[in-house]
Amino acid sequence: MPTSVPTCHYLGPERIVEPMRTKFNKNIHMWSEFDSVLTNLQQILELEFPSPTTSVKEEFCMECGICYSYLLGEAIPEMTCDNPDCNQPFHHACLYEYIRMLPDVRSSFNKLFGQCPYCSQSIELRNHYISYSFVWYVGL
Ligand SMILES: [Zn+2]
Ligand SMILES: [Zn+2]
Repeated sequence: MPTSVPTCHYLGPERIVEPMRTKFNKNIHMWSEFDSVLTNLQQILELEFPSPTTSVKEEFCMECGICYSYLLGEAIPEMTCDNPDCNQPFHHACLYEYIRMLPDVRSSFNKLFGQCPYCSQSIELRNHYISYSFVWYVGL
């Protein structure tokens, strides 16, 4: 069965995922229909994915730091703190609710500015939820 190029989402701090995006775009022509998705991705991203034989599950803890679960409805924790010593993942919606409640939250056009609940690193949240809730409040 031929495998086609999947849509990739990268979870993590920009300084780590940005080079992966660049490699993906640079090497995408190397995609082979005859190899598995895993083999293809390893070639294109020039890295080896962790395997159960060489890694322990605890290193890949991806629970949201606010609601302590992995799945929130169908959402996975797609935001991470940019502090390399923290790297705490959060659901977008959880982080949005948290930052919105901060006494010193700042917002501009479509962004919220607050701090990571764990390490106080400043976090910038670009958000479609903001425009939704804006529409909502206007509708009230
Ligand atoms: Zn959450
Ligand atoms: Zn943090």
